Amino acid sequence: MSSQLSLWSEQDVGWSVRESQRARRMVVRVFHTGRVEVVVPLRTPPRLIEGFLARHRSWIERKRAEARRTAAPPEPFPPLAIELIACAERWRVHLAGGGGPVRVRAAGELLTVGGDAGNRVAVRMALRRWLQERAQAVLAPALDACARELGFCYARMVVRCQRTRWGSCSARGTISLNGCLLFLPPDVVRYLMIHELAHTRHMNHSARFWQCVARYCPEYRRLDRALLQGWRHVPAWVFGEGTA
Ligand SMILES: [Zn+2]
Repeated sequence: MSSQLSLWSEQDVGWSVRESQRARRMVVRVFHTGRVEVVVPLRTPPRLIEGFLARHRSWIERKRAEARRTAAPPEPFPPLAIELIACAERWRVHLAGGGGPVRVRAAGELLTVGGDAGNRVAVRMALRRWLQERAQAVLAPALDACARELGFCYARMVVRCQRTRWGSCSARGTISLNGCLLFLPPDVVRYLMIHELAHTRHMNHSARFWQCVARYCPEYRRLDRALLQGWRHVPAWVFGEGTA
């Protein structure tokens, strides 16, 4: 379910209400872009959602004001360069033009975008595909090394490009990492890896889980906060906000 609630008069900021099978109670999040998302348990009556939002209205407004203050200036699209601080790479983007479908070629630290660069959606999808491949190439050996070093076992790793989660670990030991981690500092990425590896032993966020994380990553509290703030490092083009 995704619906618009018109409790606020401003039209510039997206609202969404998402029903979640896993949600036990209502949760509201304000993203760094100012977008507001309410996650509610299945079949929550709209009346309850509106009451919940009304109760948290001043908190939401404060968060949105904060988001507006710290929002990055709009970037050009396609981007001139892509900075991957997790692996200390800076890729220049070159628009080669020409016909045919949009394609991205990587060589050295140059990304050549061929085809119609005016097709913003196609360019974004192509750049995202490249980001996902790059993330696979960078994160897979890093996770492997981290697991070996600390004595963890996992079944396999997949890279996704999601807007809401940095990582997850399934009961079968599949660790899923967000390709956007490449935009975050290396110590934050390592913390997330340790966090997900710890889930191979504790499939919850219990006190024992956090003890396990703390053992391998004493600074986990600071890094977990940095991770939560991490979305502001992700360039707007990845999810298409504002640009296309
Ligand atoms: Zn977790």
